[in-house]
Amino acid sequence: MSALLAHLFRDALITRDVASAAAEGAAVRSLAATLAAAPIPAPRTCQWPHGEPGRAEFRFCGDPGVIAGRPYCGRHCEVAYRRGTD
Ligand SMILES: [Zn+2]
Repeated sequence: MSALLAHLFRDALITRDVASAAAEGAAVRSLAATLAAAPIPAPRTCQWPHGEPGRAEFRFCGDPGVIAGRPYCGRHCEVAYRRGTD
């Protein structure tokens, strides 16, 4: 009897793992499709995102005045690199 329970338990684990892997695969494919459809920021322009990737209105700031060594313009660097308030 314990061998049967062990077999059923193992089958249940395998079924759960296959379902979980399928769900993860679908999520990865969805994310990859979203990223592939997203616009690519122009070189040396602000890469601050506006909107949700995968939606038609998604875009990058695009300001050509990026701060040296940073991916964002001055306005967005102030938001991205805030100092602690304490
Ligand atoms: Zn910007």
